[in-house]
Amino acid sequence: MKLLLIILSVLMLSLLPAQPNVTSADIVFKNGNVYTANDRAPKAQAIAVRADRIVYVGTNAGAQKYVGPNTRVVDFHGNTVLPGFADAHQHLSGVGFREMTLNLEGTTSLEDLLSKLKARVDQTKPGEWVTGRDWIETHWQPPVFPTRWDLDKVSPNNPVILGRADGHGAVANSAAFKLAGIDKSTPNPFGGEISKDKQSSEPNGMLLDAAQGLVKRKVPPTTREDAERAVVLGVKRDIELGWTQIQDAGGSYEDIDIFKKLYASGAIKLRIYKAVYGPGPNATRLLSEGPIVGEFQNRLTVRTIKVVSDGALGSRGAALLAPYSDAPDTSGFLTVKAEELRPMLIDALRKGIQVETHAIGDKANRFILDEYETALKAVPASERKVADPRWRVEHAQIVNPTDIPRFAKLGIIPSMQPSHAIGDLFFAPSRLGLDRLQGAYAWESFIKSGVVVPGGSDAPVERGEPMIEFYAAVARKDQKGFSTTGWHPEEAVTRAQALKMFTMWPAYAAFEEKLRGSIEVGKLADLTILSADIMTIPELEILKTRCVMTVINGEVVFEGT
Ligand SMILES: [Zn+2]
Repeated sequence: MKLLLIILSVLMLSLLPAQPNVTSADIVFKNGNVYTANDRAPKAQAIAVRADRIVYVGTNAGAQKYVGPNTRVVDFHGNTVLPGFADAHQHLSGVGFREMTLNLEGTTSLEDLLSKLKARVDQTKPGEWVTGRDWIETHWQPPVFPTRWDLDKVSPNNPVILGRADGHGAVANSAAFKLAGIDKSTPNPFGGEISKDKQSSEPNGMLLDAAQGLVKRKVPPTTREDAERAVVLGVKRDIELGWTQIQDAGGSYEDIDIFKKLYASGAIKLRIYKAVYGPGPNATRLLSEGPIVGEFQNRLTVRTIKVVSDGALGSRGAALLAPYSDAPDTSGFLTVKAEELRPMLIDALRKGIQVETHAIGDKANRFILDEYETALKAVPASERKVADPRWRVEHAQIVNPTDIPRFAKLGIIPSMQPSHAIGDLFFAPSRLGLDRLQGAYAWESFIKSGVVVPGGSDAPVERGEPMIEFYAAVARKDQKGFSTTGWHPEEAVTRAQALKMFTMWPAYAAFEEKLRGSIEVGKLADLTILSADIMTIPELEILKTRCVMTVINGEVVFEGT
């Protein structure tokens, strides 16, 4: 009887289908041209993934033992495989809203802007608002801001406000000014400027930085549904371009509620490292409730306060140590008060909250370095919840060369956007003069000084495409291959450095370098697969390279055709 049972069970076992190998993976990717961003093993052919983790990196032959009966095998046919790209500075819902409102990106002239506006006004009911964004006049002939009188020609009755691509300026028409009650006598709000016509001193339609709020307050608020749709559209665009994480540079708890809802329903898969604006109620709430780390399978983290310390260079709102070379009557302005910032910085150190501060001009950069330094001295490492707080300066665009070494010394991370250097190519030399270009967009100087430089796009200020950013970082030329005198070609980075700018270094800036950022066993399986080898092809071909697949947490979330 006993013997019979043994015989029977042996027989049954042999009839069962082959047991999956204990080491079998959910997906095996093979025949890839894999760059790992791991210096100890920089190249590979194959990757095996189980659940959300990488379990093998190596040769095709070595990956074979991870193939079980239920393993999906994806043949890359030699495509280039990189660690999942991360955009260290993006405004996600702005990217989505750009898809939803009058998109003036790529507008070639004032006439072009007016004809796009007219088409929109013609479809809008009388008296209803028309809002749009992302025009930039720097390429126009002549490169001058539009005025309210220009807009009035095509929109005499509908109020209009159109944001400049940098987000630091907007032009509104007379109907909008009337609704907002702005006239000759309206004073400039703190941190902003109502531009005036030089002859008549009448407001000319341009509103800089905080002054935009005077009109924007009158625009009916977007609904919660609009905001959700914007996030879904932004995420869709991002993963199709190959981003696997974006670091969302500012916002509110309302945004976080939207993300949570969309993650819970499975509507979005992109990783989001979210900052909330401060000083103010959102920062206060983060300081009191504490961070959110790695929710929704390591997709959502909120542990950062975003501060804005000045405006932008294009609209001359960036705070400079000396006047603008092309407008000697102004040096820009700071947009945050030290006395409001200081207690928040101290509190953030004690509670382990990261701070990232927008600083474009050399004065803003020095200001925030000084404020960070004061806070770091006031709260020694032993009294901090996170000893190395990895505070960041967003943009670090024009930095006095004597301030560059202070970043490494203080452990501050300059988070920079390569496309700004190719977008600003046309006006930065006149705004700043050649001398100040030393220390402007100084990626290589920063890296040599001993810091990491996480790379971002600042979309929707810029296009938000990883290939444009990668190209800008290595070429430091515009998209036609053009550069200009005094543009410091030595500040371009190598391709290996550029790869880290969009993989390992954003991971480090988010305290995630052990979790993601390179293709290594044990890390989260985030991959960006490209149509060409951007580590070796001629520079201009980088711009023609497409994303063919995006993998997040071991899941193929986008597959191109
Ligand atoms: Zn930004």
